[in-house]
Amino acid sequence: MELNLTPDELAFRDQVRAFLQRSLNADVVRRSRTGMHPPNEEDRRWWNRVLFEQGWAAPHWPVEYGGTGWSHVQNHIFEYECKLAGAPELRWQGLRLLGPVLYTYGSPEQKARYLPPILKGEEMWAQGFSEPGAGSDLAALKTSAVRDGDHYIVNGQKLWTTEGQYCEQGFFLVRTEAADRPQRGISMMIIDMRAPGITVRQIDMINGEGSTCEVFLDNVRVPVENILGEPGNAWNQAKFLLANERTSSADIHKARADLERIRVIARAERRGDRPLLEDPVFSRKLATLRLEVEALEWSVLKVAHEAPSRHPIAACASVLKVRGSGLQQRLTELMVQALGQRSLRVYRRDEAYAPPGDDPSWPAYTPGVTADLMYLRACTIFGGAMEVQKNIIAKLAFGF
Ligand SMILES: Cc1cc2nc3c(=O)[nH]c(=O)nc-3n(C[C@H](O)[C@H](O)[C@H](O)COP(=O)(O)OP(=O)(O)OC[C@H]3O[C@@H](n4cnc5c(N)ncnc54)[C@H](O)[C@@H]3O)c2cc1C
Repeated sequence: MELNLTPDELAFRDQVRAFLQRSLNADVVRRSRTGMHPPNEEDRRWWNRVLFEQGWAAPHWPVEYGGTGWSHVQNHIFEYECKLAGAPELRWQGLRLLGPVLYTYGSPEQKARYLPPILKGEEMWAQGFSEPGAGSDLAALKTSAVRDGDHYIVNGQKLWTTEGQYCEQGFFLVRTEAADRPQRGISMMIIDMRAPGITVRQIDMINGEGSTCEVFLDNVRVPVENILGEPGNAWNQAKFLLANERTSSADIHKARADLERIRVIARAERRGDRPLLEDPVFSRKLATLRLEVEALEWSVLKVAHEAPSRHPIAACASVLKVRGSGLQQRLTELMVQALGQRSLRVYRRDEAYAPPGDDPSWPAYTPGVTADLMYLRACTIFGGAMEVQKNIIAKLAFGF
């Protein structure tokens, strides 16, 4: 990391490194570096527990709910070091998306019931926003929730629900009342993913994995106390959540770790009689990406530090999302170029997770690279499509 860290920050970084070194094991690191989507579920839950026991599962949360009280720079160092060390990626729907909504808008009972299991990694969460006719135009959603005594009866279909097949709980946007504007009458509702009437169907993706699902809701009974905030008034909560999602979508820590990964590959791969890293055309491409990643890193830190007070947060979040998602795609493209013809082998999950063999044709850095490239075609779509983010920037930042 090229930030000018203070002596205290350097000491903090060393403390994090020492913790990662003693807590992670080689098998877990190998599996998480394969770039499989979804990542290994058991590893992820295990790592969430380890971090919880250390008090580091949700550093960015307020201290009263289990956060660490670290500065933005400390949070940044922590996340980067985790990525660099090959720690499993925690499931972010609970920790990054719903958690902040819960402690900002939830009732005391909801906070007490749902925050601790998120922190401990005991309950995983699905995000049920998009529908077949409502993605970019989210307010067009049709899933309905009709009050019936102390329950709502929910009917409808959600689409692209990431890893819904592994989740115990979901936070859903549903229409609880008809209103004059489409943004009104929408509520955010917590739904038990194992409730009668819910069917989760995995969608097979281009990388051979099933990281998203369709979720069908057929007369699902949901207690009224599962509404988050005021019924019919969830649009602001949804915008708050999506701004957090888009800021995280810059995925700057992965970008930094990917740069390192490209260097590892390019040092080992040869073009002609020299390592690829010494090829001037290749190293120029890598240097350009490195500069862009560093510029984005500074922007992410600046937004984290200043956005709530000085900028329209939604516009900043969209800028980071546009830049970050484009960079992720270019980084994986360069990684695939570095692998050359080895990238043509697409690994099945069990092969990718297997310990590296001694076949020199398939060194340990090959599994997962092509799968990641294919998966990341979607990163300019999920969390809000690229064109729509540009519309948001034009409107909020430039007033068009
Ligand atoms: C891998 C993956 C994971 C996802 N995970 C989740 C999840 O966990 N939960 C969830 O709720 N959703 C999830 N999504 C859904 C995602 O949020 C939507 O796909 C996204 O918002 C786009 O909506 P759409 O697919 O309906 O496309 P559409 O809205 O139909 O857009 C199609 C195309 O038209 C363009 N377009 C649309 N409107 C405009 C406009 N006004 N101006 C210019 N261009 C426009 C878009 O940019 C896009 O290129 C996921 C999607 C993917 C691919």
